[in-house]
Amino acid sequence: MPSTNSHLPPTSVFGHRLWLNRLLVQQPLLSDVLLLLLWLGLWRVSALMEYAPHASVWFPPAGVSFAAFLLLGLRAIPSVAISCMLATFWEATLYQSDTSSAQLIMIGCLFAFAHIVPYYAAASLLRVFVHNDEQKLPRMILAFMIIGPLASLSAAYCIQVALHITGAITDESHLLWLPLWIGDLIGIIVLTPLAIGLISRIYPTSGIWLSEVGLRQTPGSIYTFLVKLLLALVLSSLIMVAAARLDIRELAFAIFFIGIAQMWIVYTETPLRSAVSIALLSGLTAILVKWLDLGEDALIYQFSMSVLAASTYFGLLIPVLASNNERLQQIAYKDPLTKVLSRQHFFHLAQQEVQRANFYQQPVCIAVFDIDHFKAINDTYGHSAGDGALKFLTAEIDQRLGPAELLGRFGGDEFMLLLPATSLAQAQSKLSTIFSEVSQLELGQLELSLRCSVGVTEVKPEDSLIRAFERADCLLFTAKKQGRNQVVASNQLKIDAEASRS
Ligand code: GH3
Ligand code: MG
Repeated sequence: MPSTNSHLPPTSVFGHRLWLNRLLVQQPLLSDVLLLLLWLGLWRVSALMEYAPHASVWFPPAGVSFAAFLLLGLRAIPSVAISCMLATFWEATLYQSDTSSAQLIMIGCLFAFAHIVPYYAAASLLRVFVHNDEQKLPRMILAFMIIGPLASLSAAYCIQVALHITGAITDESHLLWLPLWIGDLIGIIVLTPLAIGLISRIYPTSGIWLSEVGLRQTPGSIYTFLVKLLLALVLSSLIMVAAARLDIRELAFAIFFIGIAQMWIVYTETPLRSAVSIALLSGLTAILVKWLDLGEDALIYQFSMSVLAASTYFGLLIPVLASNNERLQQIAYKDPLTKVLSRQHFFHLAQQEVQRANFYQQPVCIAVFDIDHFKAINDTYGHSAGDGALKFLTAEIDQRLGPAELLGRFGGDEFMLLLPATSLAQAQSKLSTIFSEVSQLELGQLELSLRCSVGVTEVKPEDSLIRAFERADCLLFTAKKQGRNQVVASNQLKIDAEASRS
């Protein structure tokens, strides 16, 4: 779906093409003519590649129509409809058919109807799934991989019915929908992303849309890309020439190796370059099937190309999924405000540290601290100043900790610390120093400092981490009761009932 600012031409990305954008914005009819020419040009290319009447390894105009309906909606219908009509007349001259003009108009109308209705419906359905948002890319690609093939299947079937109605095909050709479907399917799968990129340039007001996803990644050297592309194209040609000249049909399965070359491009180049490479590879395959007379094995090559295209799109998703994962991990592991460990992650890591300490028979301490009279900061200076205070305090404490020491947020203004390889006495002394230093710092321009009450205890081998934490929490309460701004340390397993909060 076009972005929310879709009425703006994409000047920032294509600044050097501003004059063309301006011309296309001023003359919207020119965009329609360009779309028509693109459709007809690709139609002519696919007609050249027919290995049997009406059967080409791919039918690129299907990808153009689908992309145009996806980007432009109803606006694309006139160009596509006129293209279908012109293609019908052009085809009649190519096949030197003696069909009358009236009949050709009727065939053209039916062809346009059968081609437009399924692709327009499918594109409208896909628009529901699509948002101009990278995070939605996985959902969009999955929907595209399901809706695209179903749309081409319905279009192929509708065209067969249309041709049957007009008497253009005889009863024996009833299975025509199969090659039509496969040709359209590859046209859709292989060409839609690239067609989207081209159409967003032809129609600057439609927004940059999917092509922007590819352009966000910085492209590497064009020469390296060309070498990889050439390798894939040469490999593909060699395999197909060998299959034809040596008459070894099974060699077609060596197309598998092209998958490796294509995946190399997918993982090392931009998505746009991957889309260009898959389009060129499948175009070359279509040419070679026709020129080398490999029509009998067309299905194998078509199948390989659709698998290659599907792998390409799923391959493109990997960085997006990885960054999503990283983002989710950040959310789960870190407290969003202070960026110290979340409560769950703190306990998870602390548990591992305690097990390690027990194994090496080293002491380990846990401390809980809470800011004194924090509510007053919120009440006096506002909640964002309170947030700033929490961030300031945790950053200052974090700076004073060693690499193995953990700082986590329990909630509100209460935090906890794990101090491995530290005895209770060492912990008390270290914490007294840290909190005394921090309490002398001034909080930004507010002339106030932060004081904390701290409870600290050792996690004994016979303890559970949670029990030790609860003990430290009770000691913190004792510190509050004893006048705040102090560190209370104890290893007593039995907590004074009075000190207990519960
Ligand atoms: P005490 O010395 O007894 O700890 O007094 P206190 O004022 O600090 O009281 P207490 O610890 O019970 O209250 C903590 C307050 O912190 C309550 C809540 O409004 C505030 N608070 C909790 N989370 C946040 C936060 O993320 N941001 C801000 N600005 N305030 C928070
Ligand atoms: Mg407090």
